[in-house]
Amino acid sequence: ARQFTRPLNDLANQYNVVLSAVAGAERVFEIMDEEPEKDDPQAIRVERLHGEVEFQSVDFAYQEGGRTLSNIDFRVDSGQTVALVGPTGAGKTTLVSLLAQFYQPERGRILLDGQDASKIRRSSLRSNMGIVLQDSYLFETTVRENIRYGKLAATDEEVVQAAKAANADDFIQKLPNGYDTILHADGSGISHGQRQLLSIARVMVADPALLILDEATSSIDTITEMKINDAFRQLMKGKTSFVIAHRLNTVKSADMIVVIQSGKITEKGTHQELLKQNGYYASLVQSSSLRANG
Ligand code: ADP
Repeated sequence: ARQFTRPLNDLANQYNVVLSAVAGAERVFEIMDEEPEKDDPQAIRVERLHGEVEFQSVDFAYQEGGRTLSNIDFRVDSGQTVALVGPTGAGKTTLVSLLAQFYQPERGRILLDGQDASKIRRSSLRSNMGIVLQDSYLFETTVRENIRYGKLAATDEEVVQAAKAANADDFIQKLPNGYDTILHADGSGISHGQRQLLSIARVMVADPALLILDEATSSIDTITEMKINDAFRQLMKGKTSFVIAHRLNTVKSADMIVVIQSGKITEKGTHQELLKQNGYYASLVQSSSLRANG
């Protein structure tokens, strides 16, 4: 999973940039070591998506003869939260990568608002999608511009509003030059958690209909983690959200938990429903494998 997580992170954090910045897109595909993506010639532009998502019998393999995902089938209404749960290597990241059209299903379809996602131009798809992963990408520019990358047309006022909603405004104000402080791409100067708050602010300003979130597993101080969790909750309001979840609270409050094991959905339902099934999910909860804090 590691080898893949890295490019996804780089890609994801430039998400709302890739749509307009060709240079950014080139860099991304260098990283991914793949052909630049080509839209289907008949692909259409969409403006604002509602955020209904349906996977229909999706199979996917990275290599011929392999099978990373099998028969992935589920449907989410606009505004709902899906928690993806399962062991490392089960296919959670691959599933969201398919959703984001980094890869195409071998069989089956992914529908967005009832339309085949492969028939939607990637640029319009990605302007409707925001990603926050564990490692946030920063650009060598000011805090303000780093947030504005979410929506290039955002006013200074919108940038500050987004930062406030993401619980980032406090620490930004304390930086040497506030919103004009120049950040380093390697993240030095601000903490890991603060980088994550900035990337939340970036997605907040973009206000996409769909979210892909990867909850932190690494250690972040408790106060910052609370700020991040609260910012996630703000961000997820009204948006269809796919969360690769590690915290019990997130999973409990999800509209649907999708349990993935060895590339297959083995359980699907709410917290209560899955506890009753007394399967893998119930055993995760009983063994406290999900983080209880936050
Ligand atoms: P999870 O997110 O649940 O930890 P992943 O979706 O990252 O799982 O990985 C699912 C499987 O696909 C794993 O066996 C992983 O090694 C493999 N995999 C992930 N990315 C790639 C890739 N780029 N090329 C080949 N195999 C990959």
